[in-house]
Amino acid sequence: MIRVEHLSKRFGTLEVLKDINAEIQQGEVISIIGPSGTGKSTFLRCLNLLDQPSGGRIEIDGEDILAPQANVPALRRRMGMVFQSFNLFAHLTVLENLTIGPIRLLEKPPAQAANTGLELLRMVGLAEKAHAFPDELSGGQKQRVAIARCLSMEPEIILFDEPTSALDPTMVSEVLAVIRRLAKQGMTMAIVTHEMEFARDVSTRVFYMDEGLIYEEGPPEQIFDHPQRQRTRDFIGKVRSLSFTVTSADYDLYALVGKIEGFCEKHLIPARAAHAAQLLAEEVLGVLLSGPGPAAGAHDIELTLAYSERQRQLELRLDSAGPPGNPLDTTALPDDLALTLIRNYADEIAYARVDGRNRLQLRVRQG
Ligand code: ADP
Ligand code: MG
Repeated sequence: MIRVEHLSKRFGTLEVLKDINAEIQQGEVISIIGPSGTGKSTFLRCLNLLDQPSGGRIEIDGEDILAPQANVPALRRRMGMVFQSFNLFAHLTVLENLTIGPIRLLEKPPAQAANTGLELLRMVGLAEKAHAFPDELSGGQKQRVAIARCLSMEPEIILFDEPTSALDPTMVSEVLAVIRRLAKQGMTMAIVTHEMEFARDVSTRVFYMDEGLIYEEGPPEQIFDHPQRQRTRDFIGKVRSLSFTVTSADYDLYALVGKIEGFCEKHLIPARAAHAAQLLAEEVLGVLLSGPGPAAGAHDIELTLAYSERQRQLELRLDSAGPPGNPLDTTALPDDLALTLIRNYADEIAYARVDGRNRLQLRVRQG
C-alpha cells in the first residue's frame, strides 16, 4: 500500500531523516517507537506531505506522490492524521466537527453526513455528546471525537502521532481501546506511541527509529523481547525502568514516591502493587541507609524499578556500595520490623555481589 524508499528530510542543516525505507501493507498496524527528537513525527508528516521530503520516493498503491503532477489534496485525503493535540473546531458541535469535512470536501449530502457522523460517534462511545461543544469534553473524549472525525473522511490509512501523550493517565485507556477496535476491524494504521504495552499487543510490526533511520524493525516479540541491535536494547531497557540515586539519608522521599507513582501509572500497574513498590523502596532504603556507608553519612545507592510486561511483574533493584554482604542479613539488622515489612511487600528477595557492589533484587508482591 505504501512504499518509502531512501526518504530524507533536512531542516536547514539539520538532517532529521537520513535514509528511511519501509513498506506498509494494507491491514497492517505499525507502531513507531524511539527516543524523542529522532524524527518520528517528521516521518509521519512527510508521509502525508505536511512536510516536503528533501529526497527519496513515497509511493501509494504504486503512485509516486512526490511527482510534480501528483494530486496532493486527493492523496492527503486518503491518509487521516490524528495529533497529540486534538485540533477540533471549537466553534462547531461535536457532530458538526464530523460532518464539515465530508460535506465540503467529499460533497456528501448533509443528512447522510450527519447519519454517518452519528454512527461514528456511536462507535467511539460519544453519540450522547453529538450536540456538545469540544470544550465541554474531557481530553480523552476530545481525542475520541478527533478519531471519529478522521474516520468520517474515509481514509485508507490513519497516521497517529502520539495520540495519548497529551492526556491525563486516567484517560489513556479509553483512547487506546478505540484504536484497538480499529485494528480489529482491519484499519491500516501507523502509530507513533510511547505506550509500549499497547504497541506490543496492537501492532503487526514495530519500527524502532533512531539516528535518522528505521534502525530496527520487526514483530513486537522481537523488538520488545529480543531486540537485535544495541540502541534498540538500550531504549527498550530504559522505557521499562525507573532509576533513582540516593546519596544520603536525607534523600527526597517524596520525589521518589512521585516517580514510582508516575511510572506505575504509565504501565497501568494496579494501585496495590504500586503502593507495595513505594513502601518496599522506602523500607529497603531505610535499611541500607542505616548500614555502613563508604564514608560517614555519605551513601551511594542506585535504585531501579523495572516492569516486565510479559510476566506483569515489578522488580526493585538496589545497588549499594559497601563491604560484601547481604544488607538484609537478619543478624546485622537493628530491628526486624523493617524486615517483616519487606517480606510482606516482596515475594522474592535475592542478594548478589555485582561489580564490587551489593545488589538486592526484590520482586514486588502483586496483591
Ligand atoms: P520526534 O517526533 O521523534 O520527537 P520530530 O520529528 O518532532 O521528532 O523532530 C525531529 C527533529 O527535527 C528535532 O530535532 C526537531 O527539533 C526538528 N524539527 C522538527 N520540525 C522542524 C521544523 N519545522 N523546523 C526545524 N526543525 C524541526
Ligand atoms: Mg513527535
